[in-house]
Amino acid sequence: MAQLHARRYDTGEPVRVTWTGSTIASVTPLAATAETSRWPLVAPGLFDPQVNGYAGVWFSDPQLTPEKVEAAVKPYLAMGVTRLCPTLITASHEALKNGLAAIRLACERTDWLAQMVPGCHLEGPFISPVDGCRGAHPREHVRPASWEEFQLLQDAAGGLVRLITLAPEAPYAQDFIRKATASGVVVSIGHTCAETQQIEAAVDAGARLSTHLGNGAQGMIRRHPNYIWDQLADDRLAASLIVDGQHLPESVVRCMLRVKGVDRVILTCDASGWAGCAPGVHGNQLGDAEVLEDGRIVVAGQRQFLAGSGVGTDTCVVKMIQFTGVSLAEAVDMAGRNAARLLGFPLPSLEPETRADLVLFDAPQPGDGKMRVRAAVLAGQTRVGTLS
Ligand SMILES: [Zn+2]
Repeated sequence: MAQLHARRYDTGEPVRVTWTGSTIASVTPLAATAETSRWPLVAPGLFDPQVNGYAGVWFSDPQLTPEKVEAAVKPYLAMGVTRLCPTLITASHEALKNGLAAIRLACERTDWLAQMVPGCHLEGPFISPVDGCRGAHPREHVRPASWEEFQLLQDAAGGLVRLITLAPEAPYAQDFIRKATASGVVVSIGHTCAETQQIEAAVDAGARLSTHLGNGAQGMIRRHPNYIWDQLADDRLAASLIVDGQHLPESVVRCMLRVKGVDRVILTCDASGWAGCAPGVHGNQLGDAEVLEDGRIVVAGQRQFLAGSGVGTDTCVVKMIQFTGVSLAEAVDMAGRNAARLLGFPLPSLEPETRADLVLFDAPQPGDGKMRVRAAVLAGQTRVGTLS
């Protein structure tokens, strides 16, 4: 039996949380005192559905190995993330197949990794080839939607692909969306410049999410209608937002939150594989990117188009509070509960009988750039920090 004492992230109530093995046994309310007011907060671990790698490792690297997967996933624990979807962006069939196979193998042989990776996110390759919409995805590997290709990739992944981002205007996309949805894979709209009726058809076919809404878009678009309004207006679509302080201005985050509501906004860091790298130009087969001194990561040679973020989900939680005035509980739930519900994974929870995935952190203060994580518990094991 292990335990910790902290204040609940949602109510501030002091509690003793105990767990046996990997499962929470009890969450017992305690009397509030002067001492308990100084206790850190406890929340369920965060879950991020879109993470591209870390410290030079890209999950879409054609040479991805299980060791690289471990090295790229582990740092997220220190950000309070106990589950994430490794995300593979547009690449050759061989690269995607190899990457998914490496992630599958890594999960098969390493327990903590399997606990952290409930599924993978395939972002592409069935997206728009148009500059801006395509973002940092390599144009030469963008291709028409192919259910046959996806099935081969899903086989290589051992069924781990649970989320796919595609453009509704990609050839054969509508048929693909129906088949993917029927197979239990959640389809998200992204890297698109689709027309109104194409977006509507995609949602009719089963699409349920907009990937990093407002990004992966052209710098200049028609004022209305356009693919951002169309996705905002469809209540059947949840939206993932990159609230790292760089990808979306505060006013846009506030508007998108008001339209979608706290239950349909999913916070993601969309961290680049270059996150955690020193400033400078970094490159691989996927293309060149530049890590700027201010932490932004851009497609090399320009400053307008970002190539994923350089920060983690812990930053997005704090920025969301600062940008919109939501409560800590709402921001934390947007960084876990909403995505887990959409993808059909167990919800992050501070309830008995659920998995002991816990993050211990200090209450955010004005001016904080990210959560001050003290400790992270994954399936009952303290992986980061100490509990006292
Ligand atoms: Zn993207």
